[in-house]
Amino acid sequence: MIMKDRARPGIGKLCDAGLRRLRPGHPVAGKLEERRKQAEAGFGGEERVDAVLAEYRHRDSIRIFADLGLICGSRFQLDALLLSRSWACLLEVKNISGRSVIRDIPPQLVRITKDGREEALGSPFAQLDSHLMLFRDWLHERNTPIPVYGAVVFAYPSQMVEAADASHPILFPNNIPFFLRSLPAQPVLEVHELDGLARQVLAAHQPYVQRPLCTMYPQVSRADIRTGVICPDCGGIGMRWRDRAWHCGCECVSRSAHIEALRDWFFIFGGGLTNEECRRFLGVDDRHAARRMMKSAGLIERGKGRWKTYHQY
Ligand SMILES: [Zn+2]
Repeated sequence: MIMKDRARPGIGKLCDAGLRRLRPGHPVAGKLEERRKQAEAGFGGEERVDAVLAEYRHRDSIRIFADLGLICGSRFQLDALLLSRSWACLLEVKNISGRSVIRDIPPQLVRITKDGREEALGSPFAQLDSHLMLFRDWLHERNTPIPVYGAVVFAYPSQMVEAADASHPILFPNNIPFFLRSLPAQPVLEVHELDGLARQVLAAHQPYVQRPLCTMYPQVSRADIRTGVICPDCGGIGMRWRDRAWHCGCECVSRSAHIEALRDWFFIFGGGLTNEECRRFLGVDDRHAARRMMKSAGLIERGKGRWKTYHQY
């Protein structure tokens, strides 16, 4: 049973917003393209694992959580968590193009690209070890002493992986069912205890809070960001607000095009938005109209009078 789905990562949406808004030719644009590609590849790989898990039928009850953020001392992010009456299992999903060599000392994954370049990344085994430790501690705090297993999953069988000494199983998505069936099947929990644990996991989930673009790339200044509402039909920037709707030169009329623009603003600047900044960004003069737009976008008011700001949560 799938208890929690996966959403497209915030970094991908942030890159979309940045690429829509940065002035053409800005040096950060290339970095955003690269980040977006990585994020999409990672997400695509995780979705392949989700598809296998959605089809998988275990002999006993099983609960599946995708993309889970938990806190036990520090915050940790699990690509996939499975709970059964007998065990918990963490899957660490990797989608790395080129050839991957996993080394023990120092714990690294060296990625060798098609053109022979080498790039060192953190070892997936070390990452899994750390997540196993933290999740065992998390269960211990809740007096649920079930065994915890883990595996590293490479999302595509075409990925070339070498590991001198594999301290954890390395799987491709098709191997996951066999791996899960091979885990000890001695029930430790009753079904109602498993359900209670699943509820605790969901309640403890802390969504990842994406940092805004201008703190990730401090070289991006306000002047680098194009203001204005983007037309949902033609993609042109600078729709005009009149008669309670947005109008574009392409004859598109929208009552809600500001919602996407406000989303862009938060991905880029973050924090609190003032009425004045909102008017400047959307290109409206009327402060009451701006306030209505921010309310209709679901923003929350904080503070009073001229110090009032609007927030996403
Ligand atoms: Zn248009």
